[in-house]
Amino acid sequence: MLNRKATVLWHYFLDRYLHRWANRRAFEEWQEAKVIAHLQLIRESSAFYQELWNGLTTSKWREFPIIDKQIMMDHFDSLNTVGIRKEEAFTLALKAESTRDFTPQLNGITIGLSSGTSGNRGLFVVSPQEQYAWAGRVLSKVLPGSLLASHRIAFFLRANSNLYGSVSGTRLRFEFFDLIEPMQQHIYRLNTYLPNLWIAPPSVLHLLADAYRQGKLIAKPQRMVSVAEVLDPLDRQYIESVFQLPIHQVYQCTEGFLAATCAHGTLHLNEDMVAFQKESVDGEHRFVPILTDFTRFAQPIIRYRLNDLLVERSRPCPCGSLMTGIEVVEGRCDDLFYLPHAVHQELVPVFPDLITRTIMGAAPTAVAYHIVQLAPDRIELSLEFAVDTSTTMDFIYSTVQLALETLFIRMNCKKPNILMTPYETIVPGTRKLRRVERRFSIESSHSNL
Ligand SMILES: [Zn+2]
Repeated sequence: MLNRKATVLWHYFLDRYLHRWANRRAFEEWQEAKVIAHLQLIRESSAFYQELWNGLTTSKWREFPIIDKQIMMDHFDSLNTVGIRKEEAFTLALKAESTRDFTPQLNGITIGLSSGTSGNRGLFVVSPQEQYAWAGRVLSKVLPGSLLASHRIAFFLRANSNLYGSVSGTRLRFEFFDLIEPMQQHIYRLNTYLPNLWIAPPSVLHLLADAYRQGKLIAKPQRMVSVAEVLDPLDRQYIESVFQLPIHQVYQCTEGFLAATCAHGTLHLNEDMVAFQKESVDGEHRFVPILTDFTRFAQPIIRYRLNDLLVERSRPCPCGSLMTGIEVVEGRCDDLFYLPHAVHQELVPVFPDLITRTIMGAAPTAVAYHIVQLAPDRIELSLEFAVDTSTTMDFIYSTVQLALETLFIRMNCKKPNILMTPYETIVPGTRKLRRVERRFSIESSHSNL
């Protein structure tokens, strides 16, 4: 137990107080040395990487072959360094997920599944040492004040995992809220537990804001941290206005703990754990990250293309952090809209951020939306309002419809059919919320933009 806590504290202090560099260049030198040392270790320990990098010099790691989720899953058994077999791990993780009464472990290694469609789920493994280091790092980024002050934390998650239960003590209390439980139960527990720090997906924070507005929820957070889903600007605006608090963000997925917001609300990449290479998408600030995590050993993530779209911040953040600032995490590349060009045959990509901002501009009273592209020429849109707008609904819908059509025409696309459908709240825990979603696949020749 002491060892566990010591590891958490060590990484907490390391990140918060000791990792300080004079300038970006000094930081990059430190990072380069860390990456090289890590890769040498991985080369000795992972059969998959050893073969993949055969004949390549470690100092040229920036040009190593790129892998992705598919490649990682196809070679899972030889990629991980802790001797875990994919079939065995999948069986155990699926069983744990359906029963929810234990955290799956194999040889002391925690097994987790990423969310996604059944054929497309990622498997991840983390050693105990990595878990405690992770907990310390997350705390160093999200806890207000000192770790030594007392904190009551409410952590909303899809499934229980000892990843998140690994820190507890008299001053620090974690309570876990399983997303599969009904909302009324969460509200009841929050009203009695009164946590000061709430960590939850934005879809849950949105529902809690609804409950607070209706007077059902009395508890109010001192700090909110959005995790697990993309924080949509409209959700952000709504939740922040209800609780009168800024939302902090942790950008994390099974591939790693990638970024967290600073005191100024800017999302900074965790480049002190992961080296980010940027694959430019639009020749400007938008990019797909290639990750090299130099803190994970059990399941090494090296030159891994993440299926996410990030927009880099163009101005420096007033906090003075040396870590790259991110304007927005736009979501999965799979959710880019593709519309036929007005003249040519090709499909034109439309970024989720543009769609979101168009909807927000045209329907300023909306508190939530969901837009789904079902086919190149077919889009479904639903809007939610806090107050009864039934009398003006037709007007609002046609305003939004026109604004979206104008956007698409401006981008030289053919005008699609935009159908309005009633808004349905997604039950938390059933699936991840994506406000902008594409539900048809395009040929791979288009996916690289
Ligand atoms: Zn900052």
